[in-house]
Amino acid sequence: KIRVRFAPSPTGYLHIGGARTALFNYFFAKRYNGKFILRIEDTDRERLKEDSVSQIVSSMKWLGINWDEGPEKGGEYGPYFQSERLDIYRREAKRLLDEGKAYYCFCTEEDIEKEREEQKRLKVSYRYSGKCSLLSKEEVEENLRAGKPYVIRIKIPREGTTEIEDLIRGRVSFDNSQLDDYIILKSNNMPTYNFACVVDDHFMEISHVIRAEEHLSNTPKQVLIYKALGYEVPKFAHLSMILAPDRSKLSKRHGATSVEEFREKGYIKEALVNYLTLLGWSPGEDREIFGMEDTIKNFSLEKVSKTAAIYDINKLTWLNGNYLRELDLDYITKETIPFLIEKGFIKEYEAEEKYDYIKRVVAAVREKVKLLTELADGSEYFFKDISEYDPKGVAKRFEKDGTVRLLESGRKALEDAEDFKVETVEKIYRDLIDKLGIKGGDIIHPTRLALSGKTVGPGLFDIISILGKEECLKRMDKAIE
Ligand code: GLU
Repeated sequence: KIRVRFAPSPTGYLHIGGARTALFNYFFAKRYNGKFILRIEDTDRERLKEDSVSQIVSSMKWLGINWDEGPEKGGEYGPYFQSERLDIYRREAKRLLDEGKAYYCFCTEEDIEKEREEQKRLKVSYRYSGKCSLLSKEEVEENLRAGKPYVIRIKIPREGTTEIEDLIRGRVSFDNSQLDDYIILKSNNMPTYNFACVVDDHFMEISHVIRAEEHLSNTPKQVLIYKALGYEVPKFAHLSMILAPDRSKLSKRHGATSVEEFREKGYIKEALVNYLTLLGWSPGEDREIFGMEDTIKNFSLEKVSKTAAIYDINKLTWLNGNYLRELDLDYITKETIPFLIEKGFIKEYEAEEKYDYIKRVVAAVREKVKLLTELADGSEYFFKDISEYDPKGVAKRFEKDGTVRLLESGRKALEDAEDFKVETVEKIYRDLIDKLGIKGGDIIHPTRLALSGKTVGPGLFDIISILGKEECLKRMDKAIE
């Protein structure tokens, strides 16, 4: 039975690293008819951010990463918020205490600080000495009675190695001597990540733990807990890091990092999913453009890359442009509308009544842009009067001798047009060009500038046809005067 989970800590937005982890878990679950669980690891109360859960949930929904069990969905293995499972962790910690596999530690912060100093002098990296494991039963009871604050620590073997068969990285071996008796329950009675994670993965019957490489070093600690608690150890797969182009850790200074920001910038989910999938996986045959269904059919952890993935915004943007042009026009139109509203080009209530018009605009403009925001910006003149002509265009076109006369004849020809289909207006203009014996550009460029205020954009005859007779004549009059 395949059961995997994505277990974010709600400390902010869903970042692209997290989104990739979620995606790979999702692909794996779907590929093998398993279940994908969303679990919220919210026991570190200090790091919690309000709204974070709803942000994560909405980003996941937007990307189409649907979970089978978790927040909003429920399930038989809940609750799916760690903060609602505290009694389970306490019960399991108690069991370890009773079995002598964990112990109370009453060391104060000063005690620990002293140990740190000593070890620093010896130039070894800090490990808890384990001295509280030597307390007698009576001493422990006395301390508890006296109400001394305590944490609970797990006993880690001082010798031997802990081995992990990682499905991506192969066998990884850790010396137990590198570990220490780490805390599983803090003085405020809250579990630490390594402990809660193991207890949950066990009771939620997680078969495969697929997560970021940064957790690889936690894995031996967790494996030792599985063993201490007598749980079966799941399979592990650690996804390689996502690095910035300069191979440093990806951070804010490299631009957008949260899914929400990409959405606001005008990326579409198909492109983002495709791109995130490429950060560690590909269907082979050098194919770079593929959808979720395609990935699910072919996905396997063995094919996930061991080496760090380099994040490349240009590639993502290139993919986005591709999807923008290729996906169903109605879909792209619907995705564009919120941006048109946000920019004030249309009112919300107009989206429906002007739908056919908007769709034609989108069809024309999407050919030349890469982002939904660019698509919206590039269609401004279809919704608003021209506020300013591109000054370079003015110098080159409008101020040229004879341009006004040419615009006048273009205007006249359009006024006489029987209809405004693209073919019709194109024919009208071609005939005019022949008749006047001019070069096409002599009249096409100024007309474009008159109608759009720009020197580049979609095909002129598309623009003319979409704007319609009345609007075209009005704009040409304005340019001529
Ligand atoms: N809450 C941990 C994180 O956000 C989960 C790590 C794991 O998947 O075990 O990084």
